[in-house]
Amino acid sequence: MRMTSCLRVVAIACALFSMPASAQDRTVFLTIDDGPLSGMSNILRALEAEKVPATLFLVGEHVQASKEHKDLLAKAKASPFVTIGNHSYSHAHNRYRSFYSNAAGVLEDLEEANKVLGLTVAPFHTRLPGRDVFRLPGVTREDRGIGHAEDELEKADYDKVAAAGFYLYGWDHEWSHDSRGKPIQSVEQLVSEIGTKFARRELVTTDKMLLLMHDEMFSDRYDGYAKFRALIAALKAKGYAFGHLKDYHR
Ligand SMILES: [Zn+2]
Repeated sequence: MRMTSCLRVVAIACALFSMPASAQDRTVFLTIDDGPLSGMSNILRALEAEKVPATLFLVGEHVQASKEHKDLLAKAKASPFVTIGNHSYSHAHNRYRSFYSNAAGVLEDLEEANKVLGLTVAPFHTRLPGRDVFRLPGVTREDRGIGHAEDELEKADYDKVAAAGFYLYGWDHEWSHDSRGKPIQSVEQLVSEIGTKFARRELVTTDKMLLLMHDEMFSDRYDGYAKFRALIAALKAKGYAFGHLKDYHR
């Protein structure tokens, strides 16, 4: 064997061994909440460039805030890479306990968001504002962060909206941000955390991760376009697949 072919064989073997076992079976579902805000344009550009799917859980009031935001929704709806999710009309105006004290009001708020987002056919892929709750066929999980007593009060809300055709998605891991929206973990650190979660099977659904991020993390002031592309590229390099949300609970 000539030296160059020999080196090529070694390189291929190294590439195979460096890939985690069954990485191709491990799927990351990118989900970004709260838009349209200052990061959405960069998010859409990055998805287009990297050709991977993501779900944008959008807020009705944020869509209606400006012509620019309405145009972003139209652009997102035209993209083959984007699933539009419902993240409520009002985002509870960040007063969650009061919001969830009225189950009929919660359902009305979500239905109003459906109208703004143009979602007409159930199931409506939804992430509740301020709550890490799952209600999917075969998957039920309560928010473990709000305390047992509050959860007992709110369960009726979650069940009511689920019965009305809303699929509720929480998350497995978060790319966190500070109070101004700046991402906290580096891409390298985040990818390492994701690897640990898969290895420990700390996931609601085996081999599938719902990764939570927020729109403003990807604004220009945090170099959002480059950062989002860097995350996607790093996950690709580790061999992860990227899922469309409709395939999450199959
Ligand atoms: Zn939110």
